[in-house]
Amino acid sequence: MSSENSIQCSFCGTNKHDTDILIAGASAHICNSCIEQAHKIVEQDAKSNQKEPQEFNLLKPAEIKSHLDDFVIGQDFAKKVLSVAVYNHYKRITQLNISENDVEIEKSNIIMVGRTGTGKTLLARSIAKLLNVPFCIADATVLTEAGYVGEDVESILSRLLQAADYDVEKAKIGIVFIDEIDKVARKSDNPSITRDVSGEGVQQAMLKLLEGTIVNVPPQGGRKHPDQKMIALDTKDILFISGGAFDGVEKNIASRLNSSAIGFKAKKDNKIDDSNFLKYISPQDLKSFGLIPELIGRMPVVTYLNPLDKEALRLILTEPKNAITKQYIKLFELDGVKLKFESDAIGLIVDQALEFELGARGLRSICEKIMLDAMYQIPSDDSKKELIISKEFIKNQLTTLENNNLKVA
Ligand code: ADP
Repeated sequence: MSSENSIQCSFCGTNKHDTDILIAGASAHICNSCIEQAHKIVEQDAKSNQKEPQEFNLLKPAEIKSHLDDFVIGQDFAKKVLSVAVYNHYKRITQLNISENDVEIEKSNIIMVGRTGTGKTLLARSIAKLLNVPFCIADATVLTEAGYVGEDVESILSRLLQAADYDVEKAKIGIVFIDEIDKVARKSDNPSITRDVSGEGVQQAMLKLLEGTIVNVPPQGGRKHPDQKMIALDTKDILFISGGAFDGVEKNIASRLNSSAIGFKAKKDNKIDDSNFLKYISPQDLKSFGLIPELIGRMPVVTYLNPLDKEALRLILTEPKNAITKQYIKLFELDGVKLKFESDAIGLIVDQALEFELGARGLRSICEKIMLDAMYQIPSDDSKKELIISKEFIKNQLTTLENNNLKVA
């Protein structure tokens, strides 16, 4: 039996006689100073929760870049530019309680120029994943000016809402990747009198979206559901990253550079690196390509991607966390089979991909075709414990495909 003297605070152990108040619970006691301390903790916790209403992880530019390094091979400059732009964008969003006199940080939508299959989408997707924000890809080629056959620009936001599970607060800070932005270039050299509804019309429609406006979004997208209730979505904190190949823009850049190289701006030691003219891309080149100046102005961060060379393709096949060869190895491992790619086999896959000029995009389809027979047979063959993909193995597969008139990529 516990005497009055043995009763003490279950948290700090202070005896009842040494406390002002000791409150008894079902099987414990708490003294007044422990209550005060606990109250402070609860208050502090509530305050810190208020300060950080965003759930995403705001990482420093260097941390963003180092995460991108795990998934994307090369493209160091694009990674750096993106990391800084994304960091500034989300810092701007988290800048709470901006007073009237404060400097307002403007939005930094991004435009990436680079050949197909060089990692534009992968970069945008990897950033969204890292920050834990909703992400969607919109294909600019299917968009048309409102009222014409095709998708309205607002449909982009329906996709973002879907990606955010219809949580408007989440969607408001999402990332939209607009693919093939170059395909909505103004068709200026076509003097037809018909309206340019899929070119300049789309660019005009995008302006408001990119800058920030409240859009009534049909949650299910499209015009097929006329009765659906619209959801209002503010786009001011949505980060738009667009990408395009801008085929032929290199020529413009080259001629611009050459004329300045012989013009009055020319500096003696100013050597032009002609391995990738995209390195010198400027808003001026995007304008000559057919983007309207207002749109370019709303995507102030311009960066480029390098074409992928042999070494980059080889690394893409083997190095990233979810590299294609690692995925096959894992797949076969699940069937109890040890899969190994020989180095010159990798070389042959790379050579094929270079031939098809699809960037890293070609690697996957070539691998799928090469691995098909093995993936078909192995699960039914219990005796097979190991498979080595050699150059000869690939050559055989390619010949079989050719004999059957099947395309490799
Ligand atoms: P695009 O530049 O056309 O948007 P993607 O980012 O969609 O190209 O790339 C297509 C696929 O190729 C990706 O899923 C990825 O597996 C691979 N890939 C492309 N570039 C890279 C890269 N630099 N590093 C790693 N993988 C890449």
